[in-house]
Amino acid sequence: MAFSKCFRASAHPSPATRREARRRLIGFCAGFVCLGFPWLVGTAHAGKEKRIRVTTTLTMLSSIAEAIGGDRVSATSIAAPGYNPHFIEPRPSDILRLGRSDYFIHMGLDLELWRGPLVEAAVNPRLLPGAVGDVDASVGIDLLEVPGVGLSRASGDIHIFGNPHYWLDPENVKRMAEQFAGRLAAGAPGSSDLFRENLRSFSRSVDEHMASWKSALSPFQGQRLVAYHNSWPYFAHAFNLRIDLFVEPKPGISPSGSHLEGLVAQMKRDEVRIIIVEPFQPRRIAESVAKRTSGKVVELWQNPSGKDSYIEMMDRNVHTLVEALRASRRGSAP
Ligand SMILES: [Zn+2]
Repeated sequence: MAFSKCFRASAHPSPATRREARRRLIGFCAGFVCLGFPWLVGTAHAGKEKRIRVTTTLTMLSSIAEAIGGDRVSATSIAAPGYNPHFIEPRPSDILRLGRSDYFIHMGLDLELWRGPLVEAAVNPRLLPGAVGDVDASVGIDLLEVPGVGLSRASGDIHIFGNPHYWLDPENVKRMAEQFAGRLAAGAPGSSDLFRENLRSFSRSVDEHMASWKSALSPFQGQRLVAYHNSWPYFAHAFNLRIDLFVEPKPGISPSGSHLEGLVAQMKRDEVRIIIVEPFQPRRIAESVAKRTSGKVVELWQNPSGKDSYIEMMDRNVHTLVEALRASRRGSAP
């Protein structure tokens, strides 16, 4: 799986920073188009046996596209793993790649806040929203935390259509893979048997792993945990955990001192000891909360590293968590 490194990504850029990044990206592209970029557009299908070119936003999506497409697909993701998927700044080379792609697979909703200007800049009619190469992975997923009437910005700047981290429930990933297989087959009917077979094999592998993950986490049913960001409700739902305390007061909002005081008090009161962080989140804050609550910080990943697959990443996440939960239970034993 290939991915391009983002030239800058921060956990919580200000709205002004995001506006400036968008302005620079579109400005670059306007200049590039004038210099003759359009000749690249439309070359995606040159050559009968060419591999299907897929660009994805996240490594998670490339991992699934490769599992289904096999050697008929060449997949590249824009966001490097280990960065905050909400706040990536794509590089000019990503725009070129997207201009030459047959498919653009993304998470939909408001997961990739940077997605719209990127597609605009790529000037590839296949990939415009709703066009033949635009694949919204959230189609067919039962979303959690969909806000009701009365939603306002007070609820935070992101997750406004429901929680977008749905791929952390492996059952949802089977649905995503099914959609990918159908969309790839529509563009390459001669390979539809291959895609269907790969889908069967992927789904079987998810089922086998699900059984072992559920078994590993079964002693901790209903266990309450803290997460830095609200990325884990689907994971919690899949494995019967309770992940409903957060270091961020609202998704995408940095914690204030008073919020952290409240969190510490609640963790002590309810004896919650595990704090989940992701690689791009400020670990120092989580560690200071853990220190005050005799807790432990564990690092879990939302996206495969580029060397591992989605299943391998989930396997690591489950085993890291089980180990931490066991240690926490031993530590609290009388
Ligand atoms: Zn989020």
